[in-house]
Amino acid sequence: MYLKSVEVNGFKSFAEKVKVDFDTGITSIVGPNGSGKSNILDATLWVLGEQSYKNIRARESTDVIFSGGKNRKPKNSAEVSLYIDNSDRTLPMEEDNVKITRKLHRTGENEYLINNSKARLKDINELFMDTGVGKSAYSVIGQGKVERIISSSSKEIRGIIEEAAGIKKVKVRKAEAEKKLEKVEAEVEKIDLILGELE
Ligand code: ATP
Repeated sequence: MYLKSVEVNGFKSFAEKVKVDFDTGITSIVGPNGSGKSNILDATLWVLGEQSYKNIRARESTDVIFSGGKNRKPKNSAEVSLYIDNSDRTLPMEEDNVKITRKLHRTGENEYLINNSKARLKDINELFMDTGVGKSAYSVIGQGKVERIISSSSKEIRGIIEEAAGIKKVKVRKAEAEKKLEKVEAEVEKIDLILGELE
């Protein structure tokens, strides 16, 4: 799997549609200070479902929408798409090409799409779980993050290793199953009480 392109439209400093293509191997983005290099990384995290504004250098959700510039009006929405080569089937989908999109309107309406079909944030999270990609994975290491990783607690470092080893998905499923089990046990208790009263 590799990221083929990031397409931004109305996201932060990118007022119009811009598509940045990546090849296999190493790609460097160079440009003057403030030209939008980090905004490309922010866009990548954002489309993967980043919910923390701080992590994408924003104060509130609509900060990611182009706020206007020289002779340019603010935009009403931001849209980012990731184009992923999935010919090795790293993502559990029977498609060679996967497109992930996130859109946000100034009204606050937020949507996710997988190959142009509506999806939930949960679907995006599950799709990337254990692939090393994903908003909380280690695939995007921004300025200052190296230091944060080094000084992380052993529990946090263990989380990073578990994601890399591909066992995070199993742990999440286990936690979900345990929650369901708790609910069922509570229901059984209630039913037992009612039965006891009836007897
Ligand atoms: P550096 O090399 O200094 O790290 P950079 O190339 O990484 O810079 P970014 O941090 O990606 O640059 O971009 C910063 C620019 O994005 C600033 O000029 C800022 O005004 C602009 N910007 C951020 N959010 C918005 C927004 N919502 N609308 C318009 N412009 C924005």
